[in-house]
Amino acid sequence: MPCGEDGGGPVTIRDVACPLCGCLCDDLVVKVEGGAVTSVDNACSLGSEKFLSQSRLRSPILRDDNQSWSPIGFAEGIRYAAEMLADAERPLLFGWSGTSAEAQCIGIQIAETIGGVIDNCSSICHGPSIMGIQEAGHPGCTLGAVKNRADVVIYWGSNPIESHPRHLSRYTTFVNGKYRENGHHDRTLVVVDIRMTDTAKIADEFIRIKPGGDYAVFSALRAIIRGHADTLPASIGGVPRERLIWLADLCRNARFGALFTGIGLTQSRGRYKNVRNAIQLVDELNRHTKFTLTPMRGHWNVNGTNQTFSFLTGYPYGVDFSRGTPYYNPGETTAVDLLGRGEADACLIIGADPGAHLPRRCNEHLATIPTIVIDPFVSLSTSFADIHIPVACVGIDCEGTGYRMDSVPIRMKKVLSSGLPTDEEVLSQILHLIQGRRPYGVNVPKALSPEAPPVA
Ligand code: SF4
Repeated sequence: MPCGEDGGGPVTIRDVACPLCGCLCDDLVVKVEGGAVTSVDNACSLGSEKFLSQSRLRSPILRDDNQSWSPIGFAEGIRYAAEMLADAERPLLFGWSGTSAEAQCIGIQIAETIGGVIDNCSSICHGPSIMGIQEAGHPGCTLGAVKNRADVVIYWGSNPIESHPRHLSRYTTFVNGKYRENGHHDRTLVVVDIRMTDTAKIADEFIRIKPGGDYAVFSALRAIIRGHADTLPASIGGVPRERLIWLADLCRNARFGALFTGIGLTQSRGRYKNVRNAIQLVDELNRHTKFTLTPMRGHWNVNGTNQTFSFLTGYPYGVDFSRGTPYYNPGETTAVDLLGRGEADACLIIGADPGAHLPRRCNEHLATIPTIVIDPFVSLSTSFADIHIPVACVGIDCEGTGYRMDSVPIRMKKVLSSGLPTDEEVLSQILHLIQGRRPYGVNVPKALSPEAPPVA
């Protein structure tokens, strides 16, 4: 596959996948010249910005005693990170949504070797969706099926115009499908939200719901579909009963309906029970027609974290290896739990920016413990890290596997040669060094461990 080399002539690479959001659009056309991306066609502004970004870190930096940054070599930085993790009693490895499935697998091996806790971003976004799916199943489908068949599309607690800008035009609404040849003319777009979002403005119907009213509204829709509309009060969750009867009829009479659920459901009152109730509504609708539910996954490979974590440990996120076997209990073993309790004593951050997304008390704790950031870009988390190791950006300067929000694996292409090590390479070296110190692959408290050889 062609790839732009430093100083080389112009190269055009087609069918490139975008490593930004869960849409994983794989129709980008990227032009590279002189070792830099010069243009990106087909991407939205979010995706283009990542390809064209100039704010990359090029060599590792270490915070010194005066709180200033000093450059260090990759070998030194990797050894420093390995020692930091190997010496910790309660290490946390957090993030993983912005890296490849291959790197995630190595991260799980590190966590197992050091008896640490490994968590990914879904614990702060769609973890409740996964819990709902664990209880009620997943009536999912591919985005291709939605494109070709859906005549009713509902976004609930999600605003893709801002978060997934090409979702409607590529997969759900404005695109022509095999059985929806007239694009949006053949489809009805409904948005259910607590406020008038940009997506709501272009919807055929917008249903405004009261904050925290989702569970009651799903229950009301289920009751209507079961034929019990007459038992409902005049208004449910801030929505007039007649509007819900209209929505239930629209869904029941759809040829193929697609419900997309956002973090407006998972991070509001009811959380995973909202999603479980939404799945049960879809289950109810499937007695009459074909209906599906897909969580709107944010980071490009956050779905991949759930795939690899579940495949290798049995659990989708928040996996604690301190007992020697995987243990999972959201509310106890996620990053927010560990950091909020002040329990973690070292943290590796990769493919995420907790500085931007975790609660303040978590970041205050991160600032007090040894913290390693592995990321192509300087982020808010760099501000409290002890060391930042830059890496190749998956999907731009190295290959890797990502899982789209509908769980279709997409091979990410390399379009540029940056010369930076990949996440896989850095993590493999960290694992190798740690295994040298922990020959039995278990986390033995330092006080009990035999004299460990220094990392070489
Ligand atoms: S919608 Fe998402 S995956 Fe597609 S180009 Fe935009 S940021 Fe990239």
